[in-house]
Amino acid sequence: MKLYNLKDETQIVDFETAVKTGLGRNQGLFFPKEITPLDNIEQLLSMDVHSRNYKILKPFVSSNLNDETLQKIIEKTFAFPAKIKAVNNTEYCLELFHGPTLAFKDFGANFMANCLTSFGSDDKPITILTATSGDTGAAVAHAFHGLKNIQVVILFPQGKISELQQKMFTTLGDNIHTISIEGSFDDCQQLVKQSFDQRDLVNSVGLNSANSINISRLLAQVCYYFDAFSQLPADKRDQVVVSIPSGNFGNLCAGVIAKILGLPIKHFIAATNVNDTVPRYLETGEWSPKETIATISNAMDVSKPNNWPRIEYMMETEQFASSALSGIGVSEEQTEETLQAIYAQGYVSEPHAAVAYHGLHKSLKDGETGIFLGTAHPAKFKSTVEDILDIDLSLPKELAKCVVKEDLSHEFKADFKQLEEFLYNL
Ligand SMILES: *Cc1c(COP(=O)(O)O)cnc(C)c1O
Repeated sequence: MKLYNLKDETQIVDFETAVKTGLGRNQGLFFPKEITPLDNIEQLLSMDVHSRNYKILKPFVSSNLNDETLQKIIEKTFAFPAKIKAVNNTEYCLELFHGPTLAFKDFGANFMANCLTSFGSDDKPITILTATSGDTGAAVAHAFHGLKNIQVVILFPQGKISELQQKMFTTLGDNIHTISIEGSFDDCQQLVKQSFDQRDLVNSVGLNSANSINISRLLAQVCYYFDAFSQLPADKRDQVVVSIPSGNFGNLCAGVIAKILGLPIKHFIAATNVNDTVPRYLETGEWSPKETIATISNAMDVSKPNNWPRIEYMMETEQFASSALSGIGVSEEQTEETLQAIYAQGYVSEPHAAVAYHGLHKSLKDGETGIFLGTAHPAKFKSTVEDILDIDLSLPKELAKCVVKEDLSHEFKADFKQLEEFLYNL
């Protein structure tokens, strides 16, 4: 399938180029011009996960990956499950946190890493440079750890992320290089942008960012919406509302693609914390991002969501009706109360999923079935969850393992020259 630059229709690339370059000219996002629905969704839902994901992904990638390669990539990527858990008779959590770093980002990061190593090497080096305020760093580091010909450099703001989160990516070593920057997350992102502006640097080290605008990350996420339906009782599949805790809107974008492919999702709820640019936009038609505010659902502290233009495109081209989407901004107090309300039903969740549950529970009507996405394991937000619910949480083995390891990160000033030299000398 060909992919178009949404800001410049004359730039048309194949899947491989889109994965390797990330963004197109003028910072445009790559996207298919039109998404072709799949036939026989019932049959698709009755297949095993790997066969189904193969059918879903093949049309998008077949110009660059042959059948056998795609099958191997799928086996390696979807090596951990997405699980539907009932909170009550009508509301289900889609648990996406059973991967190596306990967050849904493991699906996309793994798929991207497996694609990049399968394209057939032209022996050019690849350097992944990414800034993280939490979950992305860990997912990317684990997905790319130990891969040949690929160096990974992760920048994070010194002292601004939890020790638990930090140790999930600073203790790996080998081809994973981590740098704590004396500054804010914005300073880290600025350094990444500056690096991509240096044409010589980009070409000579093969710079790539691996962030959520990469089309490969989105495509992997389309698959778990089908997986969710396949796990619902058959009589509950025709009135399904899906609520998505949103930051950069990659997850919602993947859900909308799943609907266009034919999955009968009735309605989407885009749930954000107080950084509510999209819910306000859906209500007023005005795009007016505000200053980003720090919240307990910190992976969604985004006020300029970078995947929104793709969702907008699917609406403009009438592939997706805007009436099938509503938005809600959820306050900190509501998030805490909701986390307690979920716990009262015997289920331990975390702030991001609680934001989604709040939106779902408020709008679910008789006869509908609700799914909210569980984007991270509660233990990743251990102290917050423990405080709000007044319980003790144990660390899963993935986290317990890295807490005791040595932190291998470098410390840099927010200075481009030092970073540039480091990148050239990897
Ligand atoms: C990244 C992240 C989100 C936001 O997902 P988007 O696809 O960027 O909207 C939500 N919850 C958690 C735990 C995350 O790590």
